[in-house]
Amino acid sequence: MNSQASVESAPSPGARSARPAAVVLRSATATWYQDGPHEPLVRIPHTSATPCAAVPGCGRPRAVLFDRDGTLVEDVPHNTDPGRIRPRPSAREALATLRAAGVPAGVVSNQPDVGRGLLALAQLDALHARMEALVGPIAVTAVCPHLPQDGCGCRKPQPGLVLAACRVLGVRPPETAVVGDIAADLGAAHRAGATGVLVPNPATRAAETRAAPRTAAHLAAAVRALVGAPTRPGGRT
Ligand SMILES: [Zn+2]
Repeated sequence: MNSQASVESAPSPGARSARPAAVVLRSATATWYQDGPHEPLVRIPHTSATPCAAVPGCGRPRAVLFDRDGTLVEDVPHNTDPGRIRPRPSAREALATLRAAGVPAGVVSNQPDVGRGLLALAQLDALHARMEALVGPIAVTAVCPHLPQDGCGCRKPQPGLVLAACRVLGVRPPETAVVGDIAADLGAAHRAGATGVLVPNPATRAAETRAAPRTAAHLAAAVRALVGAPTRPGGRT
C-alpha cells in the first residue's frame, strides 16, 4: 500500500532551458519542488477545499488537461481534415461534467507534423475548431510543434505543455489533472507535478496500462472520479 507521501523522480536530462522545478515530494497537503541539489526547496500547499475521490490525499483538480489524439478524439495519423475528427466515447459527457463543476478543460498535444511542415497552423486551428464543435469548449490548447530530436521542453513526456496550460489557466500543476492514453501523457503529468489518469484505447499498450498509477475505463468515468458527479437538480444552474 502506498503511503500518503511519495518521492518522485527528477526530470530527465533531456529537459534543457525550459526545465521546470522538479517535484521532489508530494504529500497529502503540499508539493515540494527543487530545481537541483544546490537549489532551494519550495513548498506549494494544496489549496483546493474538496478532496477528489480518485486520489487519496489529493485536492479536487482546478483544471483537467486532455491529450488530443487517442484521448479526446480518435487518433487519425497525419490528419489535416476536420471532417475526419471523431470524438472518443463519452468525450462530450466528460467536458459537460467539467463545465457543470466549474472546472476548466484544456488540451495538451504533441503535433510534430507542424515542425515537419506537414500541418499549417491554419489547418491545426481548423482541426481544433471542429473538435470544439463536437465535444464542447476548450479553455486552453497547448501544442508542441517540435520534432522528437529537437530536445524541446514541451514534447510529452516533458512537462512544458502542462506547465504552459497551467500558467494560462492560473492554476498550479499540483491542482491539475492530465488525462491521456499513453505513458508519455502520464510522464508529462508526473514531471509537472500534476495528477495523471490513463484512459486506455484499443491501441494502448497493455504494459503502459498496467504501469499507470490511475486508470479509468472511459473519459466520463475519469472526470467523475476527479471532480465528482454533476451538480444535482436544485443546485446552481
Ligand atoms: Zn516542444
